[in-house]
Amino acid sequence: MDSMNKCLRAIPKVDECIARVQCIEAVTAPGSIIKSAIQDVITVQRKSILASSNCEPLLDEEWMNLFVAEIERRMTPHLKRIFNGTGIVIHTNLGRSILSEKMTDQLVQAGGYYSNLEFNLQTGKRGSRYSLVEDIICDLTGAEAALVVNNNAAAVLISLDTLAEGREVIVSRGQLVEIGGAFRIPDVMDKSGAKLVEVGATNRTHLHDYEDAITENTAMLLRVHTSNFRIIGFTSEVPAEEMVELARSKGLTTMEDLGSGSLIDFSRYGFPKEPTVQEIVSAGVDVVTFSGDKLLGGPQAGIIVGNRSIIDRIKKNPLNRALRIDKFTLAALESVLREYYDIDQALQNIPTLRMITTSAQVVKKRAQSLLRRIKSKLIQDCVLQLIPTLSKVGGGAMPEFNMQSWALQFQPLKMKIVELERGLRQLKTPVIGRIENDCLLLDVRTIQDREVGQLAALLIQFFESEV
Ligand SMILES: *Cc1c(COP(=O)(O)O)cnc(C)c1O
Repeated sequence: MDSMNKCLRAIPKVDECIARVQCIEAVTAPGSIIKSAIQDVITVQRKSILASSNCEPLLDEEWMNLFVAEIERRMTPHLKRIFNGTGIVIHTNLGRSILSEKMTDQLVQAGGYYSNLEFNLQTGKRGSRYSLVEDIICDLTGAEAALVVNNNAAAVLISLDTLAEGREVIVSRGQLVEIGGAFRIPDVMDKSGAKLVEVGATNRTHLHDYEDAITENTAMLLRVHTSNFRIIGFTSEVPAEEMVELARSKGLTTMEDLGSGSLIDFSRYGFPKEPTVQEIVSAGVDVVTFSGDKLLGGPQAGIIVGNRSIIDRIKKNPLNRALRIDKFTLAALESVLREYYDIDQALQNIPTLRMITTSAQVVKKRAQSLLRRIKSKLIQDCVLQLIPTLSKVGGGAMPEFNMQSWALQFQPLKMKIVELERGLRQLKTPVIGRIENDCLLLDVRTIQDREVGQLAALLIQFFESEV
């Protein structure tokens, strides 16, 4: 009891703390942040004093350190750059696709200066923001027209709302997917006012299943890429061409939600076959939607391509105004799309594509370079080893496919594995790995060459500060 009262009496006064902290040269935070940080630190300390049976009053210096640490925490941006050591290239929680320097330069230009976002420089009149990328998308996909909205979920929503509101949309049971973040086709369909008609069995759907379900109220036949799961074994889905033929004979619209949607045929590089946007467009599907930040490797966006008269109707939907993309998206998207005019260039210059197609040997070289930089410094703290591992594409693309990769394996000698994981996660620039067999792995496939030096320095600093 005595020790508790002693501790409580030793809690400093807020006003005095503020004055003292403001004298510290390194603290440049606004007064309001200093004040609330100090108040919070004191509240937390008071609680912990009341909860403890035996406490020692903090020294002046210890209080100051707590205040400064809390102020610093509040002054650092919440959205932080991190090192992705998970080996998952398109990691939705870690920001999906990242942009090259060339692409971020475009963002900086678009953000820091006025632009011709909706101003036609030829006529001097109002222009359309979509026209800045529509031609390029059409060039690359072979589609007649294109529109870009906020993300692929929005693309599906506005397309269904425009083309099937109050009417029936037929979907195969095997394609009624839920992808991350609670995007479920039946729910989106509900919001759009379209009525879902499920056909076939989970593993097999035939053309006659669609045919039998068509009524006078049917608006559309919809195909959905199953993205993050696969049904294997005795399965069957109707090819796009056959569905298009059936729909045309009945005067119906066809749509495909491609999900990741690639412009490159990855099977040419030893990956599983995923349909390309061009293939689906040339099969005659009227509307095709896909993401900007999955396999395309660009910013968050939903790209809608297809038949001109249909895209025109979607453009006029009032929802389009609510789902419209901003100039940052356009700047980055145009920059990414331009890379696709030369496929070899795209594979090199688009970070997502480069990381996916980098050979295991090249990843190993990079991992060796990281190991070389830290090995002698960390010898007391960790058993370090390079080990082969498997990385994933992520983003719902090729879910069952593993890429051979290399990881740096940390077996800490002076702390628990969960402490190491947490410690790295809470660094100023967090390092995110994964725990496997009581070791922490950093898969180097998702670490860029330009990050190796910085990561090495950060790791060395972390272990030095721990001992
Ligand atoms: C990822 C995905 C979506 C959602 O795309 P976002 O760009 O994340 O909105 C929709 N449908 C499928 C099949 C997907 O894979």
